[in-house]
Amino acid sequence: MEPFYESCTQCPKKCGTARNAGIPGFCGEPAEIRLAWAGLHFGEEPPVTGSGGSGTLFVTGCNLGCSFCQNYQISHDGMGTAVSPEEFAEICLALASSGAENINIVTGSHAIPGIAAGLQEATLQGLSIPVLWNSSAYETPEALSLLDGLVQVWLPDLKTLNPLLARSVFRAEDYPAVAKKAVRWMANHSPLSIEQTGSTSYPNGKIVSGVIIRHLALPGKLADTELVLRWFAEHLQGKALLSLMTQYTPVSKSAHAAALDAFPDRVLDRTEYNTLVNLLDELGIDDGFYQELVQDTEWLPDFERIQPFTSVLAKPVWHWKQGFIR
Ligand code: SF4
Repeated sequence: MEPFYESCTQCPKKCGTARNAGIPGFCGEPAEIRLAWAGLHFGEEPPVTGSGGSGTLFVTGCNLGCSFCQNYQISHDGMGTAVSPEEFAEICLALASSGAENINIVTGSHAIPGIAAGLQEATLQGLSIPVLWNSSAYETPEALSLLDGLVQVWLPDLKTLNPLLARSVFRAEDYPAVAKKAVRWMANHSPLSIEQTGSTSYPNGKIVSGVIIRHLALPGKLADTELVLRWFAEHLQGKALLSLMTQYTPVSKSAHAAALDAFPDRVLDRTEYNTLVNLLDELGIDDGFYQELVQDTEWLPDFERIQPFTSVLAKPVWHWKQGFIR
């Protein structure tokens, strides 16, 4: 059993609960790693998706619990099943042999020691593609250090730099301070390297090291996005790429839907989108990506299904109910 989970303080929540004894803290998780789904994902940023797709593993539980989470079935509602570090490694290797460009671990901030053990096992068994850490950035440098040498590419969110918004949507007023420290740690540990594959443009390269900071623009909250973009331009421009996401979708089925009252029940509109694109221009942020405006809810995943996404977007390799998909 992991000593980190005897009195869990491995994330900034510092619950102090005995996860080794099966007592979950805020993240809702015991000591075991629990996973909901693994497969090839074709909807990430171009150098992450490459041609083979990103080998994505969705970890159950979350230490932040955003009220608008599109993956609420696994982050809030606990959908998933426990896997040992050996099984975790086996899933990583299955993704690699299915053609994945990389291993992409989604929302594992509350399970870093167990995931580190799984990645060590996978490396021992010959995993040789880059490993990406796809997280909320609500993480301490001490916990991130456990992944040093095991993770090559970091995909942290920078959700907001407004403590009041952080308090209202995920009850973590300290998020801005914690996340700024985490993304700086990542940028200092991982210089940007994109392996070119026949072209000098990002869409035709594969990221092998570096940081891509993701920010999801929220409708009606453009001033908060502006804060994030200005901070990025001042502190991380040239050290990391920025990915501006516009896919915010009201998630009315979530048990946490009540907290959605703070947001308009709508997607981002065209005027807001154009404002953000102009702001990127004004700030000179041209190293990165911005999503086309997403104006429907068709893409929202359902992890009850073996194929939670559309077949264009993903190919399942493992599912929490079925195990490996043969
Ligand atoms: S990982 Fe979970 S139990 Fe541990 S401190 Fe964070 S939220 Fe609490």
